Amino acid sequence: MIKIKNFINGKIVSPISGNYFENSSPVTGHNYSKVPDSDKSDVEYAVSSAKKAFLLWSKLSKKERYNYMMRLADEIENHSKELIEAESKDNGKPEWLAKSVDIPRSSENFRFFATASLHFSSEIHEMDGQAINYTLRQPIGVVGCISPWNLPLYLLTWKIAPALAAGNTVIAKPSEITPMTAFLLSKICKKARLPKGVLNIVHGYGHKVGEIISYHQDIPVISFTGGTSTGSKIASIASPMFKKLSLELGGKNPNIIFEDADFKSAVNMSIKAAFSNQGQICLCGSRLFVQDSIYNKFKESFVKKTKLLKVGDPKKKVDLGAIVSKEHMEKIFNYIQLAKSEGGKIICGGKRIILNGKLKSGYYLEPTIIEGLNYNCKTNQEEIFGPVVSIMSFSSESEVINMANSTDYGLSTSIFTQNVSRAHRVSAGIESGIVWVNTY
Ligand code: NAD
Repeated sequence: MIKIKNFINGKIVSPISGNYFENSSPVTGHNYSKVPDSDKSDVEYAVSSAKKAFLLWSKLSKKERYNYMMRLADEIENHSKELIEAESKDNGKPEWLAKSVDIPRSSENFRFFATASLHFSSEIHEMDGQAINYTLRQPIGVVGCISPWNLPLYLLTWKIAPALAAGNTVIAKPSEITPMTAFLLSKICKKARLPKGVLNIVHGYGHKVGEIISYHQDIPVISFTGGTSTGSKIASIASPMFKKLSLELGGKNPNIIFEDADFKSAVNMSIKAAFSNQGQICLCGSRLFVQDSIYNKFKESFVKKTKLLKVGDPKKKVDLGAIVSKEHMEKIFNYIQLAKSEGGKIICGGKRIILNGKLKSGYYLEPTIIEGLNYNCKTNQEEIFGPVVSIMSFSSESEVINMANSTDYGLSTSIFTQNVSRAHRVSAGIESGIVWVNTY
C-alpha cells in the first residue's frame, strides 16, 4: 500500500493528525494507496509557509520565476513514464491517453505560463491630455487551487502554473479520488529545487480541506475546477469574503450534425466527443443532434463504429479504460436506468464489462447510446459524465438551437456543416462559451 503524503514548506510530510483513508485503483477495483485525511492544522501549516514564501517569491524577477518553472517542466518530462503509469492506475484512463495528453500538457502548462509572464504587457488609457491611467498587475498572495479527478495532473498544473508565474504562492488540493500524480509532483518540486513554501499540496476530502481553504481569510484567491454544485457551494463561501474566484464547472454539451456535414468526419468526431476518457471530460459531446434527413444513415454508422470500440486494460491499446470509481460507475448506471424510465431505448452498450484475472473487479462499462428521449427530460438536462450519449433528430436550425440551449449548462458545442454562413449563424445563436465548427 503506497502512503501518499502532503507537501508543505518544501517537505514531504504526514498529516498532523496521522489519519489516512484508503483509495482504490479503478483498473483492479482494489485499494492500493492511503491518502492523508488532512484537516485545519495541515491547512494552517500550509498557509503560514505559503505566506512566508510569498515575501520572497513575489519579489523575484520574472526571469527567476521563469527559470524555476521551466525546471519544473523539465522534471515532469524526465519523470513522464512514472507519471503516465500513476495517472492511468489512479484514474483508469488508457496509458496512451495519459502519454499523449495529460502528462505532456502538464509540463507545457508550466512552460506556457512561464514564457507568457516574460512578455506580459498592461493597458494605458490616455485621458484627453489631462492624465494617463494605467493598470498595474501585482501578485496578490496565497492562491487556493482545487481540482477534479478527470484530468488530475493536467488540470492541477493548469491552475498552479499561472498563479506561480504571476508571483503568487499556492496551496493546491488535488481530488481525493486521484491523488497520486500530485504526490509525485511534490517529489518533482524538490528535484527542481523550487523554494520552500512556494507550492504546498494538501491532500484530503473536499468537504474538509476544500472548504477550509475556501473559508480561509489568508487565501484571497480561489481557483476551482469541478462540479457545478461544488462550485456554487464554494462561491457562496468565497463571494461574501470578496475573494477573487475562478470557477470552471460542468457541461452537457450539444454536438450538432447538419445534413451538409462531411459525413465521415462528423461520425468520427462524434465518437471522440462522446467517449474520450470514458466520457469523463467536461467538454464531452453528450447530446447528439442529427438532422432528420440523414438521421438513420448517421445513427447506423455511429452505432456500428461505437460497437468496434475496445474497452479494457488501460495498459493496452484500448479505446476506453476504466470508470474512475465504483460510486461513479453506479451513478452512471442510475442515469441509464433513468433514461429507460423516461422512454429511452438503449441501442448500444449499457452494461458493465467484467474482464479476466486481476482486472475482474475493475470498473469497465460499455460505451452506451440512448435513442428516443425528449430533449428536455432529466437524462438530457443533467451531466452524466460517463460514456453515455443521447441521440436525437431535428428538422431546422431554429429547432436545434432551442434544443441545444435548453440546459442550465453552457460550456461547449460542436457544429458540423459545410455551409459557412450556417456555421456563423448557428454559432451566434448557441449559448455556450466555446463553439467548435467541424471539430471537437
Ligand atoms: P467535484 O466538484 O466533486 O470535486 C472537485 C474538487 O472539489 C475535488 O478536489 C473535491 O475534493 C473538491 N470539493 C468537493 N467538495 C468541496 C467543498 N464543499 N468545498 C471545496 N472543495 C470541495 O468534481 P469531480 O467529481 O472531481 O469532477 C467532475 C466535475 O468537474 C464534472 O462536473 C466536470 O464537468 C467538471 N470539470 C470541469 C472542467 C472545466 O474546465 N470546466 C474540467 C474538468 C472537470
